[in-house]
Amino acid sequence: MTQRTFGVIGLAVMGENLALNVESRGFPIAVYNRSPGKTDEFMATRAQGKDVKAAYSLDEFVQILERPRKILVMVKAGKPVDDVIAQLKPLLDPDDMIIDGGNSLYEDTERRAKELEATGLGFVGMGVSGGEEGALNGPSLMPGGTKAAYDYLEPILVKIAAQVDDGPCVTYIGPGGAGHYVKMVHNGIEYGDMQLIAEAYDVLKNGLGLTNPQLQEVFAEWNTTDELNSYLIEITADIFKYIDPETNQHLVDLIMDTAGQKGTGRWTVMSALELGVGIPTIYAAVNARIMSSIKDERVAASKELMGPSTKFEGDVATYVNKVRDALYCSKMCSYAQGMALIAKASAEYNYNISLPESARIWKGGCIIRAGFLDKIKKAFQENPGLPNLLLAPEFKQSILDRQEAWREILVLANQLGIAVPAFSSSLDYFDAYRRDRLPQNLTQAQRDYFGAHTYERTDKPKGEFFHTEWSHSS
Ligand code: NAP
Repeated sequence: MTQRTFGVIGLAVMGENLALNVESRGFPIAVYNRSPGKTDEFMATRAQGKDVKAAYSLDEFVQILERPRKILVMVKAGKPVDDVIAQLKPLLDPDDMIIDGGNSLYEDTERRAKELEATGLGFVGMGVSGGEEGALNGPSLMPGGTKAAYDYLEPILVKIAAQVDDGPCVTYIGPGGAGHYVKMVHNGIEYGDMQLIAEAYDVLKNGLGLTNPQLQEVFAEWNTTDELNSYLIEITADIFKYIDPETNQHLVDLIMDTAGQKGTGRWTVMSALELGVGIPTIYAAVNARIMSSIKDERVAASKELMGPSTKFEGDVATYVNKVRDALYCSKMCSYAQGMALIAKASAEYNYNISLPESARIWKGGCIIRAGFLDKIKKAFQENPGLPNLLLAPEFKQSILDRQEAWREILVLANQLGIAVPAFSSSLDYFDAYRRDRLPQNLTQAQRDYFGAHTYERTDKPKGEFFHTEWSHSS
């Protein structure tokens, strides 16, 4: 039997699909899963007739792999990844490589890369986006870690990744935890996109009174526009037409309004706070999921805390377009925040991440795939030193052209009592970013007043600090 080119450990939905994807590109594969029952089931069903060899122990697994061994670990993130690495390590030879394709925290990846590289092994922390369908047919891949290991893997990765007009959706992101960092921010942006779409839905449905068939039409139409064409808008349109066979009602209306989360959005916010990068839209999206989760409290409060009784009285079609503009402007701010965070992390952790490449590999395969990403790629290609996406000529003009509509939608939502935290956070981000003077002169005065924290003066050289005995003033 030929030696296997590629090995996969972990046969849950992602591992199985990635294994089949690799096999379908002509690479013989080996698979292993902790519970043998899952391996048996996979071999008896989806792996039937495929060039797949199952192993029932890690000893057997490493024996059938071609060297240097290329092993993808697709198990639950966290301790299971450390467990698998600890079991594999004594069985491997120098230059063999482990790829962690799960949603691992970049700091864990950083640690694992250091430990494994010190023993001569390669370690690649690879973000994989696109859900189960993407894993099978072409995901967006964000690999970082040992560069020599990536070079061995590249011929396989470029074949299994989604393909777009300017190449496969994979690139070497950078050393250590760089790949998982970019995947984390991808997920943070995904939270932002989903929340912005939810707010547009809320205004359209509960503000303008659109029905599900009308919502379906609006989102389908938006999906044909340069600005909003994207996977998430496309599936949103689909959702509005799905009828529940059991009740004959629109399924979306029967779904409980409490959103789950697995942690990548929260990690993005925590990292941004640590690095001192403002990502208010993404934070608002994480917070909105938290607010959604206190359902019982909200139901009780809805009986006590009455909002305005104002009704919308404008022209529906005109306002639908304004919601579209508000969504687009807010989305631009969210991506500007995400890209600024990657830029800061890259500088801080010496990741040397290419922003145009990050945008390019998100053009296909992943959940945030959108036409819009090509413009982001070009903006950073044209000006690698761009401090913020909002200053790229095309984005700047788009937002300036639409800001009036964006503001009108926020006013309308406030009047109707509809919470639009991500729309508002985006506009606040825009309004703070474009102001040459913010009110933090007062904050500094207060800090100096109660804590002698000192302040700089606008009429004195930068770097000179002053303190005032405020209570002594006449
Ligand atoms: P999962 O439910 O996260 O994990 C199940 C797999 O982990 C099973 O194969 C299980 O083996 C194995 N496992 C758990 N603890 C283990 C341990 N201590 N030692 C060895 N194996 C262990 O699977 P998934 O949904 O396919 O996701 C895999 C990874 O991809 C996760 O990090 C996930 O966050 C990430 N991811 C998922 C998606 C998605 O759409 N699902 C998308 C992108 C990334 P047993 O069968 O023996 O229990």
